[in-house]
Amino acid sequence: MKVIAHRGASAYLPEHTLPAKALAHAMGADYLEQDVVATRDEELIVLHDIHLDRVTNVADHFPKRARDDGRYYVIDFDLAELRQLRVHERVNADGAPVYPGRYPLSGEPFTLHTLAEELSFVRGLNKSTGRNAGVYPEIKRPAFHRSEGIDITTLFLNVLRAQGYTKASDPIFVQCFDAAEIRRIHNDFDCELKLVQLIGDNAWQESDTDYDELRSAAGIASMAEYVDGFGPWINQLVELDGDGKPVSTGLAERIHAAGCEAHPYTLRRDDLPPAFSRFDQALRFLRDELQVEAVFTDFPDLIRA
Ligand code: CA
Repeated sequence: MKVIAHRGASAYLPEHTLPAKALAHAMGADYLEQDVVATRDEELIVLHDIHLDRVTNVADHFPKRARDDGRYYVIDFDLAELRQLRVHERVNADGAPVYPGRYPLSGEPFTLHTLAEELSFVRGLNKSTGRNAGVYPEIKRPAFHRSEGIDITTLFLNVLRAQGYTKASDPIFVQCFDAAEIRRIHNDFDCELKLVQLIGDNAWQESDTDYDELRSAAGIASMAEYVDGFGPWINQLVELDGDGKPVSTGLAERIHAAGCEAHPYTLRRDDLPPAFSRFDQALRFLRDELQVEAVFTDFPDLIRA
């Protein structure tokens, strides 16, 4: 089972910073994840959110640049402005850390970087260490970017091509929650890269994709011709039987029956899926019962161990 470092070794260093990626690489992750959003000047940066305010000090630097909803949007800033910001551990709307046990909010000098810079960084680590980690970039919110006048997918695929990722055999998976965009990549771009359809929950409003329908056998089959794998939420794969024992919901089996891999997200020691009481119990269930091919985790070291 492959280990995908979710936003880097994000249990130990602020997510998506280059030190978090270096640590995940050293911990033996097979793939390093990059969430990708576009700036106003059509550069691509590695950040989980279209917003800046939960993981940077943007409000200190640019106090007048929030939209009417009070949020600061990456797409309202140029790359040169974003490079002035400091990145910190993720906080809630009230400023309290999402994971209180993780890296402290202490003003450390972490900064934002571009997708191209990170891909180059990973190649450098692979050369200097002699171990080859792959990359696992996600196109974030393509419909939102389009509504703001930016075709993020074209920019994204151009960067990957320029960085040497062109073939199905290259060590990369491209992921997206938006099924229409996955079909567009498959149909409209000359893209041979391996694709992964993420499966969200309709309540999250991540895209217009109907995830209830997508999880059905017909839904999985309808996307299987476009993708190599599916990235379901762990809680969509497991439920408790009458005795309180974790059992499969059948989704992992449907994915495998369609000839695709299952790469569930996200296994965390400090935020276990409700069906499990221990990290190793959850890991063994995914690996031995469901036989998933890969798992996203904030703790690449624990899975390796
Ligand atoms: Ca992601």
